[in-house]
Amino acid sequence: MGAHRPFRYVLLGLFAPLLSDDLLPDREVATFLKGRKQLRLKAELRNIVGDLMPDRLAQALAPEGVIGERRDKDLETLAAELKRWHVTPTGTEGYAKAEVTVGGIDTAELSSKTMEAKKVPGLYAIGEAVDVTGWLGGYNFQWAWSSGWVAGRAV
Ligand SMILES: Cc1cc2nc3c(=O)[nH]c(=O)nc-3n(C[C@H](O)[C@H](O)[C@H](O)COP(=O)(O)OP(=O)(O)OC[C@H]3O[C@@H](n4cnc5c(N)ncnc54)[C@H](O)[C@@H]3O)c2cc1C
Repeated sequence: MGAHRPFRYVLLGLFAPLLSDDLLPDREVATFLKGRKQLRLKAELRNIVGDLMPDRLAQALAPEGVIGERRDKDLETLAAELKRWHVTPTGTEGYAKAEVTVGGIDTAELSSKTMEAKKVPGLYAIGEAVDVTGWLGGYNFQWAWSSGWVAGRAV
């Protein structure tokens, strides 16, 4: 028995929503921007984009300047970038902020009914000691409680 993968600490879930193929799936962004250009020639482009997403995100993603100075082609390019925005995480915030451990004791080495080690009778492993990792949102708690419950009934 042993940890068959090195322990790593990850920030599961935090980045996942940002890796979408389409950040604005319900919007025709190019049509929206070109329509706003007709209506609000002197408006800041970033403020217009801020109608589609949180302001701070719009400030970071949209270029400076008023919308009336942008060619329709530029607005179409911006719209495509806004919809297909990908984030490549460059790191984590480290152990201090980590919420779940990836890795642990191989599930194949444990009884799924009692969590007892197959090779070491009387030894039980549960929760994060086992190589089971869920998304944040309660799955890890549930795993810890459920595996602890079956082990508790067995001892
Ligand atoms: C900040 C944070 C936020 C989280 N948020 C979520 C969430 O929203 N949803 C979710 O599903 N999961 C979340 N998790 C993960 C979740 O808390 C864990 O997966 C779960 O608590 C693991 O349970 P466990 O019993 O395996 O381990 P633990 O809860 O870590 O329990 C281990 C216990 O053993 C004790 N211990 C350690 N060494 C010894 C020793 N030598 N002798 C005696 N006792 C010892 C520790 O003090 C501790 O009480 C979060 C974790 C963190 C750190």
